[in-house]
Amino acid sequence: MDHDTRIDLKNFNLEELTEFLAGMGKERFRAGQVMRWMYGRLVDDFDAMSDLSKVLRAELQQRTRISRLVPETTEESRDGTRKYLFRLEDKETIESVRIPMEGDRATLCISTQVGCAMGCVFCHTGSFGLVRNLTPGEIVNQVCAAMQDGPVNNIVLMGMGEPLHNLDNVIKALQIFYMPEGLDFGPRKVTLSTAGLVPEMLELGRRIRVNLAVSLNATTDEVRSRLMPVNRRYPLKQLMQACREFPLQPRQRITFEYILIRDVNDSDQDARRLVRLLHGIKAKVNLIPFNEHAASPFGAPSEERVSRFQGILLDRGMVAIRRASKGQDISAACGQLKGKLSDLQHADTGGVPKLLSQEKGRRT
Ligand code: SF4
Repeated sequence: MDHDTRIDLKNFNLEELTEFLAGMGKERFRAGQVMRWMYGRLVDDFDAMSDLSKVLRAELQQRTRISRLVPETTEESRDGTRKYLFRLEDKETIESVRIPMEGDRATLCISTQVGCAMGCVFCHTGSFGLVRNLTPGEIVNQVCAAMQDGPVNNIVLMGMGEPLHNLDNVIKALQIFYMPEGLDFGPRKVTLSTAGLVPEMLELGRRIRVNLAVSLNATTDEVRSRLMPVNRRYPLKQLMQACREFPLQPRQRITFEYILIRDVNDSDQDARRLVRLLHGIKAKVNLIPFNEHAASPFGAPSEERVSRFQGILLDRGMVAIRRASKGQDISAACGQLKGKLSDLQHADTGGVPKLLSQEKGRRT
């Protein structure tokens, strides 16, 4: 089948859709009507949009389309975490993860790029490199698809990709999340996680409201640069300064994600340095014990280490929450489901995990 060249309405925020329809000679309020069908009722068929005239529906059908994503595979773990793998129109794949919360509430973790350019050594996605940015529609459609499957109460941009490396499309997706005619999420329900692209962090803060999470994972430049190459461009001092400048609402905090890796960043000294680094920042620390897997040379910290580390933070009056990685029995860290799939597709690599070989290369 020929590639569908019609304009995808899922890429428009309300303003853009209004302009687009005005260009077709239509009334401005039509944009809100179409949006409410697409997002309020998750309808992707113009014929079902009963408050639009037949003529308008036919014109829209001819010039535009409403894209959607349908999961190609879904994996569910014993704790109820559900992972969706979506195949995009160009055959690339991305994934989203639904994480159950109390009651029948759920948080959805979504991707913003195919692959990722940041190359964090503890991350499977990082080992693939960046393939391309997702469109606003592809970002938003992950939420629409999961909503077909049950309620979504919170959204975290923490799946594949560095959201701030795809800033314009991510901001447009956030606008669609927030619009009452769109998915109608409050900004407090949406969290964006970054590896620390400092200029883009500041630009994000100027352009739109969102909870910020920073993937920190180390307390010295030496260790952080080894784990996260982005630190060579934006070292800790600059990163912390940007966090201090990031606009926060009263009672809002920046979340710092800290993956505890055995003998790499889990010492008492690290804990004390972390307290100093975050001094003066309204912070909340999420401690995530590293999840050992075949493709990684790193080890999980001992139970005792994790408690001591957390204890030091708590003693200094910090908010430090221990997070279990959910869905351990499916594919734990971001990128692992895709990893499994491409291991199968690229069996000619002999199953040698790319990350391991790269990591060895770096150390020698
Ligand atoms: Fe990219 Fe996040 Fe993986 Fe780092 S941890 S490589 S930013 S997807």
